[in-house]
Amino acid sequence: MQVPGLARDECKAIEREAVALLAELLQTDTTNPPGNETRAALVLREYFARHGLEAQLIGEFPERQNLIVRLPGTRPGPRLGLLGHLDVVPAEAAEWSVPPFSGAVHDGYVWGRGATDMKNQVAAQAVAFARLARAGARFAGELLFIATADEERGDHCGARWLVTEHPDLVRCDYLVNEGGGTFSVAGGVRLYPLTVGEKAFADFRITVNGRGGHGSVPLHDLNPVERLGRVIAALADHDAAVTVAPYTARYIERLVADPDLRAALTDPQRARAAVRRLHESDPEAAYLIEPLLGVTFSPTIVRGGGEAVNVIPSHAAVDVDCRMLPGQTGDDVRREVAAALAGIPGWEFAWTDLTTGNESPVPTPLSIAVDSAMAELVPGSEVVPLHLCGFTDSRWFREAFPDVVAYGFCPFVAEDAATMGGREHARDERIAVSDVAFQVRFFELLTSALLGGDG
Ligand SMILES: [Zn+2]
Repeated sequence: MQVPGLARDECKAIEREAVALLAELLQTDTTNPPGNETRAALVLREYFARHGLEAQLIGEFPERQNLIVRLPGTRPGPRLGLLGHLDVVPAEAAEWSVPPFSGAVHDGYVWGRGATDMKNQVAAQAVAFARLARAGARFAGELLFIATADEERGDHCGARWLVTEHPDLVRCDYLVNEGGGTFSVAGGVRLYPLTVGEKAFADFRITVNGRGGHGSVPLHDLNPVERLGRVIAALADHDAAVTVAPYTARYIERLVADPDLRAALTDPQRARAAVRRLHESDPEAAYLIEPLLGVTFSPTIVRGGGEAVNVIPSHAAVDVDCRMLPGQTGDDVRREVAAALAGIPGWEFAWTDLTTGNESPVPTPLSIAVDSAMAELVPGSEVVPLHLCGFTDSRWFREAFPDVVAYGFCPFVAEDAATMGGREHARDERIAVSDVAFQVRFFELLTSALLGGDG
């Protein structure tokens, strides 16, 4: 493994330092719920203390602390925040080929729950931060390291709490967080999505009422379970109106080789049919593109009768994970639902979670700094701004600090998105050892590109 701009010995030293810290974080079980992120925050505090840096632990609950470290540069300038969450989703040990909290290093990987979401980025940001401190912090402005609790379950005592209760501690001009950095290869070029905004939650429940009765007498359309089946099928079959945001259009232009398919995908009238074709020829690309075209419905929870098989219930319900693009509103979703369920009688709609999408502009000094760091780290690669179909803590920062420019980015170099596909939140989550070092180097290059290198 050779990281551009570094001698072989220095590469090895970075890799050793970052892999050791990552392994220690992975060995610290921060499954949320309950979280217990303080234990991981203490691992980081000790790491920073070894490098002469003082970390502050702060939080709503003793066992769910957040950690903040500041590193002022040698002259005035903007403040760059490096954000990461310490909690992880649960792991079913029986499904894994190594214990999920072992932090094992073998076969060229570091293994464990959180290895790519996102203790890798936390470790890389910490090691880059400590190395910059050891080199004399010869940059303008200030570097801020923020590790938070409670991202995976949503939203209480972590980033949201910090920006609400202690905005002065975490306010920054630029913020880098999770969400982008796995590459796809198109036309021989590595495309790295830089996530500049994210879709909103528009989750809802459809309740279907009917006539209850004895299971021995079929009620057909008055049986709410049968009617709910029609509701679910109709949501699955519905083609929601397509919006092709400029970022999405540019991404499609770069990602899809077939010119006819490319043209159809960027035409709102033809995009749905084109995505179905893409699912056949290149499912990886289809999964990347489809959620970016508008409102999506994923029915996830079905509630029907009670315990008795011979009782037809009087109502049944389905909960739907629904996401909408920045710029879309609840009214857009209501319109899509009404269109999808036209012709099905007797359903009621209720919101279960409704938020707004959010984004930061491009280009900015931060996006230019990402481009320039990537030009050095992975020559010939291309960084492509994109919306994220999921949720991250960037939302809380964008809401609390309207001027902050927040992006999701942490580049993988050894493995592409298709190879890594689906490791997050799944069994055998792991990261190539060399990527741990590449990611440290990225945050060093990014800091000097944005804040300058000599002082
Ligand atoms: Zn995450």
